[in-house]
Amino acid sequence: MISFENALQKVLEESQNYGNESVKLQSALGRILSETIVADRDFPPFDRSTKDGIAIEYGEGVDTNKRFNIAGIAQAGNPQLTLEDGSTCIEVMTGAIVPKDANTVVMYEHLQKEKDGFIITKPVLKGQNINYKGSDRLKNDILLDSETLVAPSEIGVLASVGKSKVLVKKLPKIAVISTGNELVEVDQNPLLHQIRKSNSHTLGALLKNEQIDADLYHLPDEPVSIKNKIESLLQEYDILMLSGGVSKGKFDFLPEVFDELGVQKIFHKVLQRPGKPFWFGKHESHKTIIFSFPGNPVSTFANYHVYFLPWLNKTLGVTTPDFTVFLSEPISNTTDLTLFIGVDISWMDGKLLAKRVATTGSGDLVALSKASGFIKLKPKESLSEGGSVSFIPVRRIV
Ligand code: AMP
Ligand code: MG
Repeated sequence: MISFENALQKVLEESQNYGNESVKLQSALGRILSETIVADRDFPPFDRSTKDGIAIEYGEGVDTNKRFNIAGIAQAGNPQLTLEDGSTCIEVMTGAIVPKDANTVVMYEHLQKEKDGFIITKPVLKGQNINYKGSDRLKNDILLDSETLVAPSEIGVLASVGKSKVLVKKLPKIAVISTGNELVEVDQNPLLHQIRKSNSHTLGALLKNEQIDADLYHLPDEPVSIKNKIESLLQEYDILMLSGGVSKGKFDFLPEVFDELGVQKIFHKVLQRPGKPFWFGKHESHKTIIFSFPGNPVSTFANYHVYFLPWLNKTLGVTTPDFTVFLSEPISNTTDLTLFIGVDISWMDGKLLAKRVATTGSGDLVALSKASGFIKLKPKESLSEGGSVSFIPVRRIV
């Protein structure tokens, strides 16, 4: 049996490149950019007033209650006006072009209105309240690097430079397949010996977080129907993500079916808990990669995070972040397995502190909903309270 590190390395060696596709701006959210985004013009594109007030030409006496007659109004969205002389002002709104020959903006709060003019009531600095053309970014500056994750703030940048269509990394086409005669649909009432399917829905939801719309399938524990279905799915999908049917049970048919279908086994079983019976392989000619996770919900869930997500990140050209948290209690691993332990985390004196979530084992999927992530303990690793440990988040930390 191979170690977790070795298994992860073998999974990462199978990272792929699915190319690029052009998507509408709003559909780019959560995707990985495949192009470098440059400024199509200066940011801002003109000398922009940052306040509502008056634009003046800074000159002698502005600090001494100087009065300016109003000669016009510059509204945001209107072409540039011209300030005719130093004794007049043009009212200027936030976002409007500063009038030609004006060089300073005084906000209304620092003015006293008087008939057709304004008197300055506060000291003025030459050039104040103007966001100069190109002072944020210059035309052709790089605004977003390729391989950037598009979050809402990136959507704003893309919109500003006119990207109604965005080139992003193409995502793999994925079939999520649950296996097991004991499983019934969510809307059914299970008999005593049955349970409702959960893994395929969890995996489907996890993939949705990655903007992947997976198709869900179910297979009974029956080798002929498994073989026929997997054979056709191999041709249709980039990834088959299975749960169940890879352990030592009498009805765990997947490893032999993969073998019969010419799927190359890269490894089966890893020195880890949960998720030990993980089967990983690929079909050379169809270029399909198979992540076949053991059926226990916690095993499937942990393996998705520790293998599939790093694989997806590498495939999309992004690095998987390394997180470290601190232990709120001593933990020791006396086994020769890599352990993934569900923890809840909270802030304590500026540090993220991990506390073990109570669980009865790999079947306890309710415990997962209490966990912020898994800590990873190496074989035979003993850590004392306050010790730092590698952390794999499984949800947004709030
Ligand atoms: P297996 O890996 O097929 O031996 O399954 C291990 C355990 O996980 C069994 O108790 C199964 O009933 C359970 N299990 C397998 N697949 C699923 C699933 N899709 N949803 C919920 N539980 C499952
Ligand atoms: Mg099973």
